Amino acid sequence: MLNTKDTKNEYIARPPIVTIMGHVDHGKTSILDSIRKTNIADKEYGGITQHIGAYQIERNSQKITFIDTPGHEAFAQMRARGGRAADIVVLVVAADEGVKPQTKEAISHAKAASVPIIVAINKIDKAGANVQKVKQELASENILVEDWGGDILCIEMSAKTGEGLDKLLDAILLVSEMNQIKGNPDTDLEAVIIESRLDRKRGVVVSCVIRNGTLKVGQKVVASNIDCKVRSLTDDKGNNLSEAGPSCPVEILGFRAVPHVGDIIIELGSELAELAIEENRVEIIGQESKKTVAIVLKTDTEGTLEAVKGSLARLVTSSVEATYAIKFLLCGTGDITETDIALAQSAKGVVLGFDVKVSPKVMDIAEEAKIIVKTYKTIYELTEDAEKLLQGVAIQEESKIKGRAQVIKIFKLPSGDIVAGCKVIAGVLKVGVKTSVYDKNPADLTEEDRPLFTGSIKSLKKGKDEVNVVGRDNECGVLFKSQYEDIASGMWLEVR
Ligand code: GDP
Repeated sequence: MLNTKDTKNEYIARPPIVTIMGHVDHGKTSILDSIRKTNIADKEYGGITQHIGAYQIERNSQKITFIDTPGHEAFAQMRARGGRAADIVVLVVAADEGVKPQTKEAISHAKAASVPIIVAINKIDKAGANVQKVKQELASENILVEDWGGDILCIEMSAKTGEGLDKLLDAILLVSEMNQIKGNPDTDLEAVIIESRLDRKRGVVVSCVIRNGTLKVGQKVVASNIDCKVRSLTDDKGNNLSEAGPSCPVEILGFRAVPHVGDIIIELGSELAELAIEENRVEIIGQESKKTVAIVLKTDTEGTLEAVKGSLARLVTSSVEATYAIKFLLCGTGDITETDIALAQSAKGVVLGFDVKVSPKVMDIAEEAKIIVKTYKTIYELTEDAEKLLQGVAIQEESKIKGRAQVIKIFKLPSGDIVAGCKVIAGVLKVGVKTSVYDKNPADLTEEDRPLFTGSIKSLKKGKDEVNVVGRDNECGVLFKSQYEDIASGMWLEVR
């Protein structure tokens, strides 16, 4: 891609992103609270702070970002999704209790993610505090602090009295320098989601810390395959920002659905996005040497996703004539989004959906990008189209279908009128519009096929209501201006 910027290789030191882990009640929250309280460099904001899942403090004109949602669950999720949010883990151990199961868990998480550890032995103010015992226990977990011959920094402290807090911050800055934590505001965006939720008033609220690049209001980004046009950015002090750079914690509004914690936010269409496609998403069914049909597959649930993928795989392996293999650009759940279109566009593919929706806006984007988007209600129809694709036959674009319905039942009214009870399969049926009746699916029509009847629609009824238009997936009663006596169930209506 041609978005290479000259300054892309210029990495500079950025504030470390720190997470605090340890056993329950050992003082994680207390430490985070006292650090925030005593180091707020934002007295000018009247001390108004906002919980956005992370905050930034200043110590000797150097900044540190703390993720303040302590918990191993979040960390594990972040690690599982490949997003290493934190640069440094502060391992909290209560001086009176020592190493406990969650201490060990935290150690293994940090080690697995190769994140440097700093030990904070907390609650040294307590009567039962025994720092030496804690160090010994840590040594048996292979955490060797300095006076045990290791190189792990260990701070003895008390969140209650505040003793040692400054030392902890200095240790963080030191480890940050030793590990050369760097970032680049000019490179591709990479931000890790630390919290995400749906707020009834504000919509989807996502908190993230930026590891690289710059996040801007108005930018189009994507995470968990959910796209977002950044509507607003707010920092931990409640300031509205127009942009945010490396190590900044920010809250984003604008996501269309709730993305996963730990997922990475990237810019739509960036090199990273392309890389993500190549590395994680592409899955090929069939012989790689064959020509491939690139498909973005979206379904309503994980269960159906597996089922549909299964049928497509069978199709590829059983169909001898198939000259193509299937290359899944993405298999996911949820409605079809702009991102799906962008993905399909990047590989000249199609977007197929099973029991999912496509908004008219996304449909417009698809049309503009000349990407075929089709959704299905039965696996049979989907595999039928997939088979066509595998044989190199183009499938009919849904957006081009003005209106198509199938006759389900015929009603003869006392007045003599014949009403065709129909289900709209694609497009819309409209009052006054010329509509043809066929005895086969209009999708399979050849040049020679002629309609059995053509007439304009006099009225449409949805339930008991007279309506002017009936959209896809709805059932309705259709009355033609002039009667077609032979209309029967199983026939098709097509608006041309
Ligand atoms: P977390 O579960 O690890 O987040 O632990 P908390 O921060 O909620 O602390 C658990 C309890 O220990 C609370 O009652 C705190 O007030 C208390 N606590 C935390 N740090 C200290 C400390 O340094 N000294 C003493 N005496 N109590 C502390």
